[in-house]
Amino acid sequence: MIDLDYEEVVKRIVEKTGKPREEVEGLIDEKIKELNGLVSKNGAAHILANELGIVMVNPSGKISVSNIVPGMRNVEVTGRVVRKYEAREFSTEKRSGRIGSFLLGDNTGIIRVVLWDDMVEYLDKIKEGDTIKIVNAYSRKNRDRREIHVTNKARIIIGVEETIEMPSPRRVSLAELNGGEENIEVYATIVQVFEPRFFEVCPQCGKRLKLVEGSFSCPVHGVVEPDYRMVLNTFIDDGTSSLRLVLWEPQILKMLGISRDELLGLKDNPGAVEELRQKLLGRIIRVIGRASRNEAFDRVELIANIVELDPNPPEDWIKPSMDEDSTLKEERFDLGQ
Ligand SMILES: [Zn+2]
Repeated sequence: MIDLDYEEVVKRIVEKTGKPREEVEGLIDEKIKELNGLVSKNGAAHILANELGIVMVNPSGKISVSNIVPGMRNVEVTGRVVRKYEAREFSTEKRSGRIGSFLLGDNTGIIRVVLWDDMVEYLDKIKEGDTIKIVNAYSRKNRDRREIHVTNKARIIIGVEETIEMPSPRRVSLAELNGGEENIEVYATIVQVFEPRFFEVCPQCGKRLKLVEGSFSCPVHGVVEPDYRMVLNTFIDDGTSSLRLVLWEPQILKMLGISRDELLGLKDNPGAVEELRQKLLGRIIRVIGRASRNEAFDRVELIANIVELDPNPPEDWIKPSMDEDSTLKEERFDLGQ
C-alpha cells in the first residue's frame, strides 16, 4: 500500500483528526526533528498518520524503498536482491524457529528484509541480482534501521520483469560519518590490521556456541563439533579521519581471493597472520557499506558489504600518509552484529 504523496497524507490527517492544516504540518516538522532528519517529509507524515491510527491505503499497492517507514502493514515492494546472508535458527523463551535476511534495493535506497520460518526457504531460491516482488509484508524498526519482515502471510514473487535502477553509493569522507549512514562509498588506506578473531559457531544453524563443561554447545542443537567464523578489524584512514572497518568472512574471502580453508588456516598461526597483515598494510581500499555507532565503545565503525583492494581512486582523492607506528595490537572487541 502506501505510496501516497505528502499532500494526500496531510489531507487525510486533517480530515480524520479535524486538526487545522498548520498544526498537522507542525507535528510533521517535529517528527522530522525527532528522527534527526533521517526521514523525508513524506515519510514523517506517514509515521505521524500511523501513530494517530489513521490507515493509509493506496489502491496501487506499491511503495518504493525510501518511503518505507516503521509500522506499515501490507507492504508491497519490488527491488533487486543486493546481498544475501546466511540463515540461522533461534530459540527464545517464547518460541524457536528460523530466520534469514537479505538486502533489497531499488532506485531510492536499500533496506534489510527479514524472513521468518518457512519463508527462509526463499533464500535458496533467490540469487543476488534477482529482481523480486514482496507482497503483504510489514515494516518495523530494529535499532536504528528500517526492516521489512516477511512471514507466511506474505508472498515473494521471483523473476519479476521490471528493470530496477540501483542507487549508486554516496561517496563520503570518514570525517562526516556519524553512524546510521547506509550505502556509502569510501576510499581509504589500511593503516592498521588487528589480530583476526575466530569464534565457534554451530555447523547446523550458525549460532554462536557457548562453552559448557568443556564442550561447545549450541542452544538449539546441544553439544556439536564447532565450525568457525572469522572477523577481521582494521583501521582505515582517508586523510580526513580514521576509523575502524569491520570485515566479516564473505568480504575477506572476496577481497583476498582465497578459500575458506585458507582463511581458517590463519587460526593459531601467527606466521600466516603476520603475512596477511603485511599484505594489507598501506593498501588502498574501496569500501561500500554502512556506518554504525558502536554504543558499547562510543565510536563510529564502518561495516563493509563490498570491499576492493587497490581500486582506481577518484581524481580528487589524495592518499593520506601512513602512520609510522601502525603496529599490530591484540584487541578485544564485541562481536555483536
Ligand atoms: Zn545449532
